[in-house]
Parts: sequence; structure tokens; C-alpha cells
Amino acid sequence: MSEKKIITIALAGNPNSGKTTIFNNITGTRQKVGNWPGVTVEKKEGLIQKFGYDLKIVDLPGTYSLTPFSIEEIVARDFVLEESPDVIIDIIDASNLERSLYLATQLREIDSKVLFALNMADVARSNGTKIDAEMLSDLLAVPVVFTVGNKNEGIDNLLQEAIKLAETCPEEKEKRNVKYSKDIENAVSKIQNLIEDKVKEKLTYKSRWIAIKLLEDDKIVKERFAGKTGAAGEEILDEVQALRKNLLIHYDEDPEIVMTDDRYGFIAGIIKEVQTISAKERIDFSRNIDLVLTNRFIGFPIFIFFIWAMFQLTFTLGAYPMEWIESGVNLISSFAGNIVPESLLKDLLINGIIGGVGSVIVFLPNILILFFCIALLEDTGYMARAAFLMDKIMHLIGLHGKSFIPMLMGFGCNVPAIMATRTLESEKDRILTILITPFMSCSAKLPVYIVLAGTFFAAKAGNVIFSIYLLGIFLSILSGRLFRSTLLKGVDAPFVMELPPYRVPMIKSLLIHMWDRSKMFLRKMGGIILIGSVVVWTLSAFPRDIEYSADYSAKMNKMNQINESFNIKIAAAGEEDKEILKKERIEVIGIIENEMNSERSEKTYMGRIGKLISPVFEPLGIDWRGSVALLTGFFAKEIVVSTLGVLYSVEESDDRDALKNALLSSGMTPLSALAMMVFVLLYLPCLATIAMIRKETGSFKWTAFSIVYSTSVAWIAAFCVFQGGKLLGF
Ligand code: GDP
Ligand code: MG
Repeated sequence: MSEKKIITIALAGNPNSGKTTIFNNITGTRQKVGNWPGVTVEKKEGLIQKFGYDLKIVDLPGTYSLTPFSIEEIVARDFVLEESPDVIIDIIDASNLERSLYLATQLREIDSKVLFALNMADVARSNGTKIDAEMLSDLLAVPVVFTVGNKNEGIDNLLQEAIKLAETCPEEKEKRNVKYSKDIENAVSKIQNLIEDKVKEKLTYKSRWIAIKLLEDDKIVKERFAGKTGAAGEEILDEVQALRKNLLIHYDEDPEIVMTDDRYGFIAGIIKEVQTISAKERIDFSRNIDLVLTNRFIGFPIFIFFIWAMFQLTFTLGAYPMEWIESGVNLISSFAGNIVPESLLKDLLINGIIGGVGSVIVFLPNILILFFCIALLEDTGYMARAAFLMDKIMHLIGLHGKSFIPMLMGFGCNVPAIMATRTLESEKDRILTILITPFMSCSAKLPVYIVLAGTFFAAKAGNVIFSIYLLGIFLSILSGRLFRSTLLKGVDAPFVMELPPYRVPMIKSLLIHMWDRSKMFLRKMGGIILIGSVVVWTLSAFPRDIEYSADYSAKMNKMNQINESFNIKIAAAGEEDKEILKKERIEVIGIIENEMNSERSEKTYMGRIGKLISPVFEPLGIDWRGSVALLTGFFAKEIVVSTLGVLYSVEESDDRDALKNALLSSGMTPLSALAMMVFVLLYLPCLATIAMIRKETGSFKWTAFSIVYSTSVAWIAAFCVFQGGKLLGF
């Protein structure tokens, strides 16, 4: 171990082949492990030291090929070409060898040092698939290692082989690559010769590879080629065009298609040599489950049931830890109340910070459970089935099932959901999906529903919340339909939905998921929600010198006298009467206090803003407090609840039902609560989501459109609910 050297190892492979799992095994980095095609969009890196080397591991996005159709493919290919990693480990799904080899053959064509990891060796074995690794290794002149990613088997061996490969000189051993049809090969070598004669020194990649790509009419390679080679390159490109034209006439097919066919032919040949499947042993577990879960008739009800069960679980199971956290927050609040002297600062600390953040943090358990369920759906492979089931419905909007995955993720958080639309190939599909995803009710809105539904619908809260979610889904479908036939005309690209095999999820990976997301939630607590709470508090605490319409201090004085007389009465009364008298006192004094407080909060800045905008919300049955709460929800939806908390349970509120009681006595009805929930479900996305929409659509116009559209829909829907409900006599 005298000298150290950094070796860059890139992990390439099809989506779901286990790249991220192996990456995590090697680097120990915590990272999301998804279970549907194309979840890994970003490049992940990890630096480790092993066997006396510094290894830099890069997790490339999952791709099926290196033809630059999707962002993933472009990213992966650019990395391989531009960064030329020392070794590329191609993670091959051994239970799906044929599909995996397409990428493998393309990696070989680039002429980088490739090593095969035959992952999912266990799945292949239980399928009765046997792979002759030695033969495969000989045929393609590539080292092959068996791995089982989720059990961390074969990983050390894999790294050793990778290091060995990195250290060997590229020997000019006769490598077996795809041999194309004769005319294609002729054209390729013609172009290759031209390149070598005229522009070789200007190019960094292998000339054969460039020749192949030019013949395939690969836009990106063509552009770069032209950019680097100037006039000499122009000539070559003209020649390529002529050759392509000839080939087109000859095959009556685009050369690219012929070449793809040739590659598959080559792969079919390899498969024949190396793979044997024993039909008897083949227990097709996944297919059997799919007979039920993706059944035409019962598949959909089962899906709805799962989603329903998920929300029930979130709501009922979450109630217990919620209580614990609640009492914890109250404890802190009263502790702080005791040690901090009476002042404005104390008010800020208790009502602004602890009250604001505390009213949101109690929902952490609900959010954890929801995220756990989503992780479970992803990791078992059910998520892809859900997308498959939704395919027909999605086609009604003119989208395919694949778009449903971001939408379903939207239940967790819209930010990653909008990011996940990157896996969609067509720009129009992407924008359409981005526009309708915010209607999928994200977990941040859940606290609002829990408070409102919990207060006004009691035992039926779970069902009400479920219907809110359904309404969101329904409206997103409706909007999709609308956009598809107006703004974003076009047909949906044909697409085969991937159905990865069912897998028993690893608890570890589920927990990592949960932790990652709770981290996000907690970070939000310390950031935007804290700031939002302070802003809300400030607006509702100032101005301090309010001119009251009545002389409250005189009233207070009188109240003090009343208080005194009560005290005397209480001291004199017997044990039982004491309690009654105490209650009476609170009521008597409370009336004046309430009067004063409500006048005070109406005259604060917050109240003035509320009064200003409340005409907009009046037809929805929402009062000025609700209006302000909705306004603050723009920062983050969770703040809606804390604003309500600040505005309603003014002053000391260590009673856990304070908000509930305040809401109940505020003139809000179940109907107006429902209208408010509908509004919260649909109105403009939060700041972070808007930023993401801007980033992913790359257009201010679409971003503005999304904001205006969702808010208008929200208003109209809430209006219909409230006014319609009134007409029906609720
Ligand atoms: P990626 O899309 O290539 O990054 O794939 P992931 O690493 O996200 O893996 C997809 C799923 O396959 C996860 O649920 C893993 O736990 C699982 N998985 C990974 N390797 C193996 C393996 O060797 N055998 C089995 N049975 N499952 C695996
Ligand atoms: Mg991955």
C-alpha cells in the first residue's frame, strides 16, 4: 500500500437493475432506492478507500440504451464519453439478460473498459435461469462477476475485478462487437476511413463509434462533430447523408432501425450460447401475483383499497404519537412560560415560535406513515402496477400510465414529483403532467385536513379526507383532458409500461426512505415554517397601540372586581361549588377578554390584510382569519394550520383542544370547512413547488399559468361546494 491512485468507477445499467443498491453497498451513502424505471435522474457520487485505492464511484441514471432519447440517456452517455471513467461496471439484471445486453453492447462499442455485474443472481436462480458466466465473459471479452445487491453478496469481488481491470493496459485482444449487415458495415468503414484520413486528430472518441453514430443520424454526435471539425467535417457529413440515402433505398428502412435489429440479432446469438432456462423450475411468482393485482376487474378496486387503507392507517395510527408530541410541545411551552419573564419576546417565543412550529410538528407521525406507505408501494414493485392499472384512465387524458408515477408521488411531496416527470420522453407530456400534478394532494396539506375534518367531521374524518384526495385525482384528470385538447394538443407516444418483478422490500431501505423524508420535513420546520410563523406572529402582534372602540381597561377594572368577588366566593364555597364557580368565572371574564382579543386581532396588520382580502373568500364561506391562513399557505401549506392556531386561539392556549374549540365557535360550519379543504387542495402550489415548476418547464409562462389556473379552479370548486351545499340545505 505504498502509492494511492484514484480510480473512477461508473455504475451503468437498466433502470431497476440494482445500481443504486450496489452503489449504497459500496459507498455506504444513504440514498433513495426506487423501484420503477428511471427514478435515478441525478448523478450520485461516492468516494471510498478500499484495497489500498481511492475509488470514486458514480451512479449513472438507469438507461436501456445510449441513444440520446431521454435525459437519462444523454446524461449517462455524456459521462461515459466526456469523463471517460477508468472502469464502467454494467449492472446487468441476470433475470432479464436479453434486455440488459442492449446497453452492454453499446457500452462495448464506445470502447471503454467494461465489467459486467450479473446482479439479481438470486432472482435468476429462482426463475430457473442459468447463465454461463465464463462463456459470456469469453464471448464479449468482458470480466463477469455475480452479485446479489440487496444481500451485499459479491460486491468486494466486483470491486477487486474493477481495480484489476483499471490497472491492466487495454490489450488489443480481438473483441467481439456487434457486426452489422454487410452494407452497413461497408458504410461504417467508409466513414471511419474518411474520419481517420481527414479529421482524426480533432476528435477524442473512437472513429468507429463516431462513424456508427453519424450513420444513425445521432443529432448530438453530429453537432459536436461539426463543431470540432469545420469544413473537412462538413464534407464527411455530406458523404454520410449520401450513404444514409443509399441505405434507406436499399433496406427500405432507416439505417438506424436496421442497426438496432442487428444488435438484437447479435444479442439473441449470445443469449442462445450462455443462457438456459429450465422450464420446470420456473416458478413465476410475479406473474401469479399479477394475475390478481392487475386483473381487469378486481385490480382497480384493490388499488383503490390500498390507497384507502394507506390514508386510514395514516390517520388512525398517526393519532397516537401525535398526542405524545402534542404533550411534549405543551410541556416545552409551559416550561418556557415559567422561565421567561413577561414581555413581547415571551409572546414571540411561545405564541409565535413554539406555537407555530409546534402546531405543525405534531403531524410528523402522519407524514412519516404516509411516506412509509409510499416507500412500501415503490419498493415492492406495486407502484409500477398502479401505473399500469391507471394506464387506461391516463389515456383518457392522453397520457400514459408512466405519468401516473409522478402524480402518485405528488401525494408525498410535489417537489420530487415534478422532478420525476423528467422520465417522460415527450416535452408536451412532461408539461401536461407538471400542470396536473399539484392537484395531487401533498402531505403538507394533510395537517390542514386533519384539523378541519377532525374538528367538523369527527368520526367520518378519514372518509372525508379520502374524498378530498379523490377529488384532487378527478380534477387533475379533468384538467389533463382539457389541456390535451386545447393547449397541449398531440398524441401520446406509444410506450411499454415496465413491470419489474415483485420484491420483498428491505426494511433498511424503507427506513432510509422515511428518514430521508422526515429530514426534509424537519429541515422545513427549522426553515420556511419557522420564518413563516414568525412573520405571521409579527403581523398579528403589531401594531401594539390599538385604539379600541370600547374602554376595555375600564371593563377590565370592573372585571378585576368581579374576579375579586369570585375569589371571595370561591374561598367560602364548599369543594363541589368551587369547581362550578371557577367555570363561571372563566365564562364571565372570558366574554370581555374575547371581545377585546377579537377586536385586537382584527386591528392588527394581519387583521387588516385579512379584511382586505376577505371579500374574495366570503362566497366560499371562509372568514378573514381563514383568508389570511390561506394566504400564508403560499410559503408552505403546513403554515395554514399554524396561522389558524395563532389567529384563533389567541393568548394562552395550552389546551390541546383550543384550536378545535375556537374553530367550532368561530361560525365555521362543516360545509365551510369542506369548502376550505377543497380550496387548500387545489389552490396555488407552495413556493418550493413553484420554483421547481419554473425549473422543470424552463418557462415563466407555464409557471404563471399553473398558478393562475390552480387558484381559479380552487375558487370555483370551493364556491360550488359552499353555495351548492347551502342550496341543498346543509
Ligand atoms: P436501480 O434503478 O438500478 O438504481 O435499482 P435499485 O438499486 O433501486 O434496485 C431496485 C430494487 O431491486 C430494489 O428494491 C432492490 O432492493 C432490489 N435489488 C437490488 N439488487 C437485487 C438482487 O440482487 N436481488 C434481488 N432479489 N433484489 C435486488
Ligand atoms: Mg437507482
